[in-house]
Amino acid sequence: MAEPSYQKPLPAVTSLNQPFWEALRRRELRLQRCTRCSRVWFPPSPLCPRCWSREYAWERLSGRGRVNSWVVFHQAYFKSYENDVPYNVAEVELAEGPRLLTNLVEVANDQIRAGMAVEVVFDDVTPEITLAKFRPCA
Ligand SMILES: [Zn+2]
Repeated sequence: MAEPSYQKPLPAVTSLNQPFWEALRRRELRLQRCTRCSRVWFPPSPLCPRCWSREYAWERLSGRGRVNSWVVFHQAYFKSYENDVPYNVAEVELAEGPRLLTNLVEVANDQIRAGMAVEVVFDDVTPEITLAKFRPCA
């Protein structure tokens, strides 16, 4: 649900990453896949980090991955997070390879485990920005 008074930091949408953010608004997780070597990467860049090809497509991904690492913040470094502590920040390794920094939802912080299977969920934080978060799945 959109929060009308969302006060947390928001991403800077650029011409390079705009397809990523537009896809999230449509409830799709899309990243660049190299059409030469098939590498999928994040964050967005104008060329493939493996073969340097500039030919890529914004491919819809499975939305599934595993928790690689995480931390639980007990201190609010931004005032807008005061009501959220303790909250988690996790690194999720997508099935397609790239790792995203995200929040895990629908799981207690003390139940988070390395290797836990997760799937993407979409959080509309403003009318323009939807964040990709992840929840446990089978
Ligand atoms: Zn490549």
